[in-house]
Amino acid sequence: MGLWPLFVGIPNMGRWWVTAIPCSPHLSAMATPPVYLAAACLHRGEEPCLGGGRPVGNLFFSGCNLRCGFCQNQQISHAPRAGERLTPEGCAERILALAEQGGGAIGLVSPTHQGRGIARAVELARLGGLDLPVIYNSNGTDPVATLRRFDGLVDIYLPDFKYGADAVAWELSRVKGYVGRATAAVAEMHRQVGHLDDSAATTDAHRGLIVRHLCLPGGLAATGRVARLLAESVGDGLWLSLMAQYHPAPLFESEAGEELARRFPELARTITVAEYEEAIDACGLAGLTRLFLQDPAAAPESGLPDFRREEPFVWRESIDSQVDRMP
Ligand code: SF4
Repeated sequence: MGLWPLFVGIPNMGRWWVTAIPCSPHLSAMATPPVYLAAACLHRGEEPCLGGGRPVGNLFFSGCNLRCGFCQNQQISHAPRAGERLTPEGCAERILALAEQGGGAIGLVSPTHQGRGIARAVELARLGGLDLPVIYNSNGTDPVATLRRFDGLVDIYLPDFKYGADAVAWELSRVKGYVGRATAAVAEMHRQVGHLDDSAATTDAHRGLIVRHLCLPGGLAATGRVARLLAESVGDGLWLSLMAQYHPAPLFESEAGEELARRFPELARTITVAEYEEAIDACGLAGLTRLFLQDPAAAPESGLPDFRREEPFVWRESIDSQVDRMP
């Protein structure tokens, strides 16, 4: 039992005092916020080294601190109280259950805004025997203080670096200062786990950083600038997952998305092969040659997730990532 500086009011002669009291496990549990979990399932669509040939046991947390009009997970990302309300202990049980079901790694998807409760859940799962790599999969806006809670608990960081320009980030995702926030977050992640080994990238990843970047039609994501920022920030040893799977269907699920499509008509289509090849060239020019690639011709038509189903994802081998190491 530890002594925590917990502010507690103690009535004394009609007045309230503030003091520190020994913190019991019960009080400690009360002090850790609950976790809202929208879905938990085995997932086969991640970069091939994640899980080492087995699916990743992903926990999809409810809500997101961004509002991307094209979000394919908007059923849960725009609903911060979707799914189950769990204690950290309950969340740890769900992590261990995914390991038991055959997951090769555990993925924490959209953990940023629930960091305290989730970090505690991972800690408890480790105490309960979890020996799989833990993957932290976020949109790249994680405050450094949040990431420090996960130092030593996370093995693989898998953030997005979505945009190279703040103005576009605001228009498409309603986030301010994205570029600076993502640069700082990726630097902290790299400080904690370093680069992914080249040999692990083609086999079984246990530790390291992989950054994801979704190419947008019309070059809206400013891929070249993202690549330059990453190379300057963490160096050319970075493994970058250059995603070609953008699909416009989620835009037409909401009025806000439809408005976005009117203002940015290029968002109403998938990316072209030429645009994807330009993005690959831009990465090479920036010095980033370690790439996970997708087939742009195989952007999912019907593969968008439906979180009302027990199995939210429809799997198609053709959209799995390929690994490329440019000379
Ligand atoms: S950051 Fe990801 S999960 Fe969040 S709204 Fe954007 S696309 Fe959806």
